[in-house]
Amino acid sequence: MFAAHSAGLPVLVIPTVLSTDAPFSTVTATRDHGTVVYHETGAADAVLLDDRVLLASDWHLHHNGLGDLLAIESAGHDWQRRHPGKQAGIAAAARALVDTATDEPEAWIHPSSPRLELLAELLATKVHLGLLAGHPGFEEGTEHYLAYFLEPYLVSPAWHGELLFACLLVSAHLQEWPVERYDCVSALAARLPQIRSPRSLVSADKMRELLPRFPDYCRRHSTDNTIACDQEPTQARIRAAVADWERGW
Ligand SMILES: [Zn+2]
Repeated sequence: MFAAHSAGLPVLVIPTVLSTDAPFSTVTATRDHGTVVYHETGAADAVLLDDRVLLASDWHLHHNGLGDLLAIESAGHDWQRRHPGKQAGIAAAARALVDTATDEPEAWIHPSSPRLELLAELLATKVHLGLLAGHPGFEEGTEHYLAYFLEPYLVSPAWHGELLFACLLVSAHLQEWPVERYDCVSALAARLPQIRSPRSLVSADKMRELLPRFPDYCRRHSTDNTIACDQEPTQARIRAAVADWERGW
């Protein structure tokens, strides 16, 4: 996207895996000095979703796209905490995407064309809501920043979505999710065994060492849609988050 945009050429995207919302995005992400920088490119001129191509990929790779989608749950808590009541309509629409994705968790387990269509629609709508809001506050918060913070410490390369699934567990503790919201995400996450467990991405010991440094990372990189900027995680919260990190969803 970035190269085509720079050269003034049109872009046709044919995704082979719906592992993130990137095919529908209007920005290109690059890593720079330990964080992610977004470059405005505009959306692709066309996105061609072909069942034959998408179903030829390992089905579980599409589950990573659900991780990117469920980031809405965590980012929404950040937004709500930092801007109570602001853009409530968009916040509700974003939360509805999470509800739709988690409504029938077992339907995601096996390859299915209708589920691929639904995933594409949910990811495209997520991007659309971000454009409508004028900021990424409903789709990127504590969970994404934590994922970027952890990237250099990964035991082996990880998909963006599986790292987000892991980081959502930490968000649930730092943001004190209501039980029903935790249960709704957990019901789906726990049914996706091929999404790697958090502790196989970064060890629990390493997380214990890293988590207290996370607020400072957020402040240094001006990542402002996170409650980590407002409150240092207590020892009790870090202990609970690391225990869940070790246990998994
Ligand atoms: Zn993402």
